[in-house]
Amino acid sequence: MSKIYFGEINKIEKVLSSIPHTKLFVLVDDETEKHCYPILKPYMKAHHLISVKNGELNKTLETCNFIWQELTSHEADRNALLINLGGGVITDMGGFCAATYKRGINFINIPTTLLAQVDASVGGKTGIDFNGYKNHIGIFAEPIAVIIDTIFHKTLENRQLASGFAEMLKHGLIADKLHWDILVKNGYKAIDIALIKHSVSIKENVVKADPNEKGLRKVLNFGHTIGHAIESFALANDISLLHGEAIGIGMIAETFISQEKGYLTKEQQREIEELLRGIYTIPNIKKVSYNQIMRLCKQDKKNQNGMINMSLLENPGQANFNIPVNDELLEKALNYTLSM
Ligand code: NAD
Repeated sequence: MSKIYFGEINKIEKVLSSIPHTKLFVLVDDETEKHCYPILKPYMKAHHLISVKNGELNKTLETCNFIWQELTSHEADRNALLINLGGGVITDMGGFCAATYKRGINFINIPTTLLAQVDASVGGKTGIDFNGYKNHIGIFAEPIAVIIDTIFHKTLENRQLASGFAEMLKHGLIADKLHWDILVKNGYKAIDIALIKHSVSIKENVVKADPNEKGLRKVLNFGHTIGHAIESFALANDISLLHGEAIGIGMIAETFISQEKGYLTKEQQREIEELLRGIYTIPNIKKVSYNQIMRLCKQDKKNQNGMINMSLLENPGQANFNIPVNDELLEKALNYTLSM
């Protein structure tokens, strides 16, 4: 597992001196170059900056091509080190590029959004979107170190904080009811490093038990079968929807399914749903498009033999995985979630 440093961006010098490397590269997008790179730069020795366009639409093979090209033309050898400074798009894509360049060079993640801090930058999943499918091409590869510091929150919009908050709420819902209760009480504007650390520890414990997602790790996908499908649909249809917002909506739908399957009581469902609907706005998606979202759900990596397998809540604070969900229930959940 990666070594994770909390609240310590100034530790980067020490971290770098503990990792033998030749050339040093920093990957940013145009927003993190503006807002986050100036915070990191004073602690850095000589390096080459690679800057790409921001946003999910650029989490593609074309951008990887550019990154690999930059590494090549600046003579990165197998002992080069890449620092990914950005949100989940940068940590996912930078991790993927590092893990595949010359069969793998070391990389460090410095996540700069709440979402990347509590989720994307830890756990070793890297990858890119392909032909409209989320994270379709990728590889498991652990960063050698992760540095998480709330100093980067200063320039994040509330919407971005709420997006990251969705993954924290998910951690509470799948594994720790008390964490959920504290998050609900505090709200997304009052997230501190201790709460981030706790969310990361929940994810780490699950990942440690099942690093390559053969079983238990699938619980981290609660809200993601439908959430990813809605996110892909939104991306293809020019609907503005952040990753965590899509997951928040996916969790409403999958909480409904958990109740329909008889795991949650109606009261438990209502409590979770009310909180989520209070934070995440349902996008305007016409009923005729629900079929398309259902087709996207069928591309989910947890499915087997064409059957949709979901991770669902057994209780608030407890989840299970590999639960088959038929088309009828999926459609009912989409109707329930998106049409209300
Ligand atoms: P993102 O990387 O697109 O960042 C959101 C926006 O904020 C971008 O425009 C970025 O430039 C900007 N930004 C980043 N840090 C900033 C800062 N400190 N100040 C101002 N602006 C800043 O998106 P995200 O929400 O961080 O991550 C979403 C991605 O993460 C998705 O692609 C999702 O699939 C992936 N993800 C991966 C995992 C995993 O386990 N690998 C888990 C969850 C999500």
